[in-house]
Amino acid sequence: MSDLRKKWQDEGLKVGFVPTMGALHEGHLSLVENAKKDNDKVIVSIFVNPKQFGPNEDFDVYPRMIREDADKLKGLDVDAIFLPNAADMYPAGFQTYLTNSAMSKVLCGAYRAGHFDGVLTVVLKLFNIVKPTRAYFGKKDFQQFRILSAMAKDLMLDVELVGCETVREADGLAKSSRNLRLSEEERQIAPKLYEAMTALKAAYSDGLRSPDELLQVFDKLIEEIPQFKVEYAKLLSADRLEDFESNINEAAVFAVAAYLGSVRLIDNIELG
Ligand code: AMP
Repeated sequence: MSDLRKKWQDEGLKVGFVPTMGALHEGHLSLVENAKKDNDKVIVSIFVNPKQFGPNEDFDVYPRMIREDADKLKGLDVDAIFLPNAADMYPAGFQTYLTNSAMSKVLCGAYRAGHFDGVLTVVLKLFNIVKPTRAYFGKKDFQQFRILSAMAKDLMLDVELVGCETVREADGLAKSSRNLRLSEEERQIAPKLYEAMTALKAAYSDGLRSPDELLQVFDKLIEEIPQFKVEYAKLLSADRLEDFESNINEAAVFAVAAYLGSVRLIDNIELG
């Protein structure tokens, strides 16, 4: 990868980079399409990063399907697929981690100890290897995108981060590698999450600005479906991920994490 990257640098080429954990779906592929539009070359990495999973999380059962992934990427004419392995990324003696001290405290960060340290650390390592001109991330993982953007700004990285819209199934369910682990029954129920989120957004569009009253719109609908175990459902400012003290008065994000059986779904919707 280093040799290839040096060659492209010498040729003055712009390189777009899409980091993923594989089990690729149309969400990932939309990032690749965006990267292809803006750059001369596109590199996709596939690495299920052990450092961003907690001890009781789904690292062992996370879907891995490298052959199918490679075929999909070949179909899109990607220039290189980077497949690091954990022993190379984290050799014995590895001891340095990155931390975000503000936005990582809320939403997923409040429930997944160390998760964003793992994400920040692996993404910075990947940036150092791949040296992208631009890197593409999905706003499906809104908090992740915000935290990585803060990293790029705070550490003065020479890379442009591009946030891409969430790609959904026809019934509204946000595409996710974890959807593969839903049972048939759970898959039927799953889109109700986005339905309830959309109802909250409709109330916002009708002029409702009280966070409590907006959350009630979502809660009322989601409570009708006992299979959902909501971990969090929060309205925060979109740029800093902070609570609103009173009514919503700037761009906001409504972010949700909910379990369906053993599968943890996350989704969000931007307001204003
Ligand atoms: P992952 O493989 O889950 O780590 O995701 C790799 C990248 O794809 C991240 O930047 C995600 O935010 C993005 N991504 C995942 N699902 C979607 C989706 N449904 N729409 C757009 N981007 C997505």
